[in-house]
Parts: sequence; C-alpha cells; structure tokens
Amino acid sequence: MRQLSPRATLHTIGCRLNQAETALLADRLKRDGYTLVEFGHPTDLLVLNTCSVTVGAESDCRHLVRRTLRHSPHAFVAVTGCYAQTGAEALRRVPGIDLIVGTQYKMHLPDYLPTPATLQKPAEPQVLHARSIDREDFVLPGTGDYEATRANLKIQDGCNFMCSFCIIPFARGHERSRRLDDILREAQALVARGHQELVLTGVNIGQFHQGTHSLLDLIQQLEQVAGVERIRISSIEPTTIPMELLDYMATSSKLCRYLHVPLQSGDDRILKAMNRRYTVREYVSFIEQAVRSVPDLGLGTDVMVGFPGEGEQEFANTLALASDLPFFYCHVFSFSKRPSTAAARMRNTVHPAEVKARSRTLSELSRAKRLAFYQKHIGRRVKVLFESRDVTGRWTGLTGNYIRVAVAAPEDLSNCLRDVTITGAMDGLALGHLAEGDPLS
Ligand code: SF4
Repeated sequence: MRQLSPRATLHTIGCRLNQAETALLADRLKRDGYTLVEFGHPTDLLVLNTCSVTVGAESDCRHLVRRTLRHSPHAFVAVTGCYAQTGAEALRRVPGIDLIVGTQYKMHLPDYLPTPATLQKPAEPQVLHARSIDREDFVLPGTGDYEATRANLKIQDGCNFMCSFCIIPFARGHERSRRLDDILREAQALVARGHQELVLTGVNIGQFHQGTHSLLDLIQQLEQVAGVERIRISSIEPTTIPMELLDYMATSSKLCRYLHVPLQSGDDRILKAMNRRYTVREYVSFIEQAVRSVPDLGLGTDVMVGFPGEGEQEFANTLALASDLPFFYCHVFSFSKRPSTAAARMRNTVHPAEVKARSRTLSELSRAKRLAFYQKHIGRRVKVLFESRDVTGRWTGLTGNYIRVAVAAPEDLSNCLRDVTITGAMDGLALGHLAEGDPLS
C-alpha cells in the first residue's frame, strides 16, 4: 500500500550543471509533497538526470534504471537530461521507463508526472521531446535543494562553440543566459538556506551576457548579496575570460582565486581538428597572464587523450605542456565517439590500449602536481570552508584556491569558515590545524 507521502529519488549522472538542475527538481518535488530518499533505497519515483558525453554515461543510465527496478519494481521512472535529448528512441526501448523528457521540457518535468496521490506506472512510456531547443534567455523556478555545503548556481545554458568531439550543443542547444534578477533571487534564497559559497555553473559560462551585463557584472552584484562569502567560477573556456575578470579576482575577497580552464590538447594540429578556438601559444599566454595577475591562483584543466590523429608526438606535446604549465590538477578524459559530431567521422583512431596508457600517464602527472601545489602551502595560513568529517573523523573543507584540507577538531565545523595553518600534504589532501587567533583554536 502506498504511504501518504510518496518517496522520490533523484540521481544525477554527469556534470555540475546537471547537479544544479537536479537540485532545482528536488526542491519542486519536495514542494509537491514527495519525501526525498537517497538513491539506492526503496522508492516510488526515480528521476534520473542523464549525460551523453560518453558511451559509458549512457550505459550507466540503463544500468541505474534496472538497479532501481530490482528493489522498487513499482517505481515510476522518469528520465531527463542530455541522453533523453540525444537518445530518446533508444530509451523508449528500455523496459521500465515511464517518462522521457528532453531538454526543452526538462525543468518542467514535475508537471508531467501523475499527482503524488495517483502515481503509478502507465502501460506505455510518455515521451516529451522537441528537436529544436529554445534560444531565449530564461528564468528557473524555485531554489536548488542541496545537502552539500556549497551550492551550484546555474547562470547559463547551451553552447555555440561546436568543438568537433562534443555532443553538448546538440543535447543542450544554443547559448542562452539566465535573467540577472532571477539569479540574484536564487542566490538570496540559497544564502537563506545556509550556503556561504556559490559555484557559478553553466555550459559555457564565460558567454554569460544579460543586456550590457557581463559575467564580471554578475559576480559584482552577487558579492552584494548579504551572506554570500564565496563565489567560485566553475569550468570556463580560455577565450572567454577577460583580463578585467583576472584583475578583479586578484583584489576581491569573495571571488575565489581559482580557475578551471580546459586545455584539451597541447598540439596545434589536434586543437584545430577539435575546432578549439585557440592555439597552444595563445593558451600559454593566457595562463601566464592569469598567474601573473592572480597571486596563489589554483589552476586546473581538462585534457582529452585519444582524439583521432593523436600520434606519439602529439601526445608528447600535450604531456610536455601539461607538465610545464602551473596546473595543480588535470582532469583526463578519453575521446569517446559521439554520434552527430564531426569527430565521429574522423579516421586515424587511437588504439584503446594506447588511450588507456596515455590517460594513466597524465593522471600520474596530475597526482604529482597536486601534491607539489599542496606542499607549497605548508606553513601558510589559509581560509577553509569546512564541509564534513572524513572516514578518519577529521573535518575537511576547501580553500578558495581549491586545496582540500583536513583538520582534527572535536567541535562541529560543518559550514564554518575558519583560518587554518597548513602543516603537511599527502596524496589529494593537505593537513592542518586551526590557526592561532581563530575563535575555535
Ligand atoms: S566549448 Fe566545446 S567542449 Fe565546451 S560545451 Fe561547447 S562545444 Fe562542448
């Protein structure tokens, strides 16, 4: 027998933008009367927010539907996100899915569910899908529901850049920005829920634009929202970061000194084939400028291995550049052939074993660089926004420049911004103690 308040599980595959959208859907379902339960627990409704960036993300989606139906065979299953846009036909054939919602209707998914009182699996799946996706700037209903300390704040969607390997322009459509007043409204609501750090999120956030307002204007307005202590820019394309933004980052006490700037390849021929909008020389000059302008900048990147035509020399160029530039980590991705993209038709594919080996080499470099960056901070006093205890009972949190720090302390430090002196570093973690003069030390 169904209980009074039906249970709903939301699960995200993929990027930070998907997480932001799932959080908004979670907020709406709560308001509609659902009780949210963790993924993996028995449920009455599963909402799966999917990704189609790799073949793996698509098969994850099918696997997660099957897994949920094993413990909750009567659960209503709704699938949305990029795979629902690019693979609606394939999803229609997956047994147990009841509702498929493409990008155009994604944020209104709860409107297409039966009411909580009448929720049951229909005989046939319903598909809400449009080939073309709205180009208009947008507002979003509600406020993201986050258990995490930091909250994502969606400011932009879509992309016009058409990198040859990327399916996102097909899955999410053209660039559009969220209305400024609506962003500020959600920021205020997130602060009222206790979030001190907001992570600005979108597909190509450097392209944010509202009338004459740029990303920098938005950041300056967000800084004025009482209770916002930190603003973090998530991944941003190198060609979209103006120097004024770097200058501002250098002086602001709230904008984190952190940039994640995708490199993808350190070889000009591969960059051209990827349809990236810069050469190696241009990328290097941007990074040099950023590091000169912003002291203590935490700099990360994405690198793709195994793009068609990436021979030994091309990979060596990428490895050398990733090693020379002051990144403190590299997220390494393996090329995945995506239908509809230009790269899917390219020849000279790289053998999977070679792709794996290159990925391992870059990941090892990334580990070493992170450790070196953390070690450079030993003896320094930093501000940490604490999140939760780790398995050993230490409190962990992040600095503005994205160092994960662990501190042993008996007090509850969750969601506290505290001064910490860094005393050591290990793989993926800096160690420290609350600094003298800190209220709790
Ligand atoms: S910038 Fe390139 S990689 Fe990033 S979303 Fe746009 S097309 Fe994809």
